[in-house]
Amino acid sequence: MDRAPDVAVIGAGIVGLCTAYALAERGTTARVYESGVPGHGQSGGESRVFRHAHDDPRLVEFTRQGRAVWDEWADRLGAELISRDGVVALGSPVPGRLRILQDAGGIRVRTVDSDELQAGMPLLAEYRGPAMLDEDGGAIRTRVAVQCLADALGDSVVTDEVLSLRPTGHGTVEVLSTVGREEYASAVVCAGLGTARLARNVGLSLPIRSAAHVRLTFQVRGAPPERVACLQDSSGDFGEVGVYAAPYPGNSRYAVGLSQAVEVREDGSVVDPGALAALSDRASAYVSRALPRLDPEPVEYLHCWVTSLPWSEDGIAVWEADRILFAAGHNLFKQAPRLGRALAGAAMAEKLEENLRPSATLGRPR
Ligand SMILES: Cc1cc2nc3c(=O)[nH]c(=O)nc-3n(C[C@H](O)[C@H](O)[C@H](O)COP(=O)(O)OP(=O)(O)OC[C@H]3O[C@@H](n4cnc5c(N)ncnc54)[C@H](O)[C@@H]3O)c2cc1C
Repeated sequence: MDRAPDVAVIGAGIVGLCTAYALAERGTTARVYESGVPGHGQSGGESRVFRHAHDDPRLVEFTRQGRAVWDEWADRLGAELISRDGVVALGSPVPGRLRILQDAGGIRVRTVDSDELQAGMPLLAEYRGPAMLDEDGGAIRTRVAVQCLADALGDSVVTDEVLSLRPTGHGTVEVLSTVGREEYASAVVCAGLGTARLARNVGLSLPIRSAAHVRLTFQVRGAPPERVACLQDSSGDFGEVGVYAAPYPGNSRYAVGLSQAVEVREDGSVVDPGALAALSDRASAYVSRALPRLDPEPVEYLHCWVTSLPWSEDGIAVWEADRILFAAGHNLFKQAPRLGRALAGAAMAEKLEENLRPSATLGRPR
């Protein structure tokens, strides 16, 4: 029988794929277990926002480092993974966030007036409040990223569900899957909604919250603009304070979501299914007010489970138990290559970065 790879990675969402790719960069073999289709969990759908703006300076720095990894991998994989059109942020948090970004250094970010805003974000209605442009941010080409990474990993990604895993007591980790029983030097669990369940196998109770989320996609009326930035609107000027939006490749479609999510019970059921439809209606109404160049009739819905940590909607943490690592958080797409490298290092017996330990509460506003 063939020798098992060195590391088991559970979950082929963006975090698991990046972790396995980062292991391969360092010559370490991995098997990536995926019960469904790679990139179809929380990583599903086209486009995510890559923004540097966070309320924790440590997370700004982590994100800045992550941007460099995206660029390195884009060069190596020969694909555009993040658009070059930046992210505009609107509203009263702008001055505070700008200060954190400027203090971090190395990020091209500045305030913009209404003319510059129109040039960079031509879909937006007239707006005269505080605004900044994160020129090094952009729209993540999510499907291209998932495809390139999955192709690069090839047969290392297997369709198989992990039911349980545990340390054997002699320096290895045993993984029991639908069709297998294998031992590895270490394991990294990046199973999204399934992470807390697997952590219970080793006696860890992770404070992962799950919720349901909806994001809508709208068609641009007329010819698509040549340049269009992502949007983070906290202004309330158009009736909502937590809106994010990102263009699709080619700029003919624009995805818009409210940051709010809908509560889910312990058994996984949605508390109020009507609340998801209400969020969709609010997003459409927002589009009518704020983004008049979009047809307000959605052309696509993305209903999705999301996980988060209690201290911040951008919180990230990694739990360790005897050679098994459990990664959790929200808004992880942009962080995945940098996080993947950190997880790969820890899986190869390096010390886990202090900022990623749960006690560090990375992402907590400061
Ligand atoms: C609509 C929407 C918009 C978002 N916007 C942004 C954004 O703008 N910017 C940003 O950075 N982030 C954003 N996020 C968040 C980001 O997409 C997620 O944080 C990220 O994709 C999580 O990736 P993951 O690999 O951790 O989890 P997932 O993608 O959920 O992957 C986990 C995988 O594990 C598999 N799995 C689970 N249990 C098992 C098991 N027992 N055995 C084998 N496989 C298993 C699942 O099938 C799944 O494929 C958004 C999310 C959504 C839904």
